[in-house]
Formats: sequence, structure tokens, C-alpha cells
Amino acid sequence: MSGRISWHEYFMAQAKLIALRATCTRLMVGAVIVRDRRVIAGGYNGSIAGDEHCIDVGCKVRDGHCIRTIHAEQNALMQCAKFGVSTDGAELYVTHFPCLNCTKLLIQAGIRHIYYEVPYRVDPYAIELLEKAGVGTTQITVDLNAYVQVMSKVSTDPALTYVPESKAQKDEYGQSVGKIV
Ligand SMILES: [Zn+2]
Ligand SMILES: [Zn+2]
Repeated sequence: MSGRISWHEYFMAQAKLIALRATCTRLMVGAVIVRDRRVIAGGYNGSIAGDEHCIDVGCKVRDGHCIRTIHAEQNALMQCAKFGVSTDGAELYVTHFPCLNCTKLLIQAGIRHIYYEVPYRVDPYAIELLEKAGVGTTQITVDLNAYVQVMSKVSTDPALTYVPESKAQKDEYGQSVGKIV
């Protein structure tokens, strides 16, 4: 990997990072809601405010499902509700394809496109609803390992700058110098 990451990589990488905050390890999911190329909310699957976390006390299982947590997409949408941010016309980047209930909420919230990485338990009715609502879906895969080398460069450069190799200028010691481009 060299140079600047794309918008798709930028947002999907954030969804994957956010998934690391999930508190139910049955499935760790992260989501970001994007409008006009800005992240307006993020969420991971976790407990309701005030409740305990599955990772601390175990899952609360009913009928084979953990009922303690709400899904990443729901948390992201609720963050917008809480702070009064419109989701109309926004896009969603999510690590796993949304479940049926999340799909319903996302359509009703005005999400226009869903970018997902893992086609996890895709519900045929969810697909039908998305098609009827005109909401597009696109699979995007992002390999975070590919960024690790670049990220370590950013954090170890004394000037805290990252210059793509193609645009880097070398000083007399052969070190890359320059500003963020
Ligand atoms: Zn759980
Ligand atoms: Zn869901």
C-alpha cells in the first residue's frame, strides 16, 4: 500500500476499528454513518446505558440469542437521534451486512447506500426491502494489515508527518521530509 487511502477505505477502516469496542463478543460489529464525506455517527454492538457488559458478566441469552445488546447500526442511529443529527440521504459503512431489523431502521432513517464488508446472514427479506426502497448495497473489503506499516511511519516520524513515497523529498541523510499532502 502506498499513497493516500480512498474514501471507502477511510470509512470502512473506521467501522472496523469501532468494532473493537463491541462488548458482546458473539459478533463484533462496527458502523459509521457518513454524510457528505463526513462521519456523523459511529456505533458498535453493546449494552444499553447503565447495564452490564457481556464481556464482564456473560451474555444474557434468550431463545439462543443475546438480548443484552443493541446492534452497531442501531447505536449509530440512536446517536443521531440523541444529538439531533439528520440521517436523511446518508450512507452507512458497516463491518457485517445489517440484520432484518437494522435494515428496516436504516431504510426508515433515510440511509441511501450501505457499504458492508462481510455478507453475514443476509436476510432475503432485507434484500427485498432494500431493493423496494432503492437503497444500494456494495461490498467493500479493507485489509487493515496493509495500513500498519504506514501507520507506524506516521507515529514514529519526529515531525508527525506522512509523505507518500512518490511525493517525499529526501534530506541529506536520505530521510523523508516534507509536509502532509
Ligand atoms: Zn452478549
Ligand atoms: Zn442488526
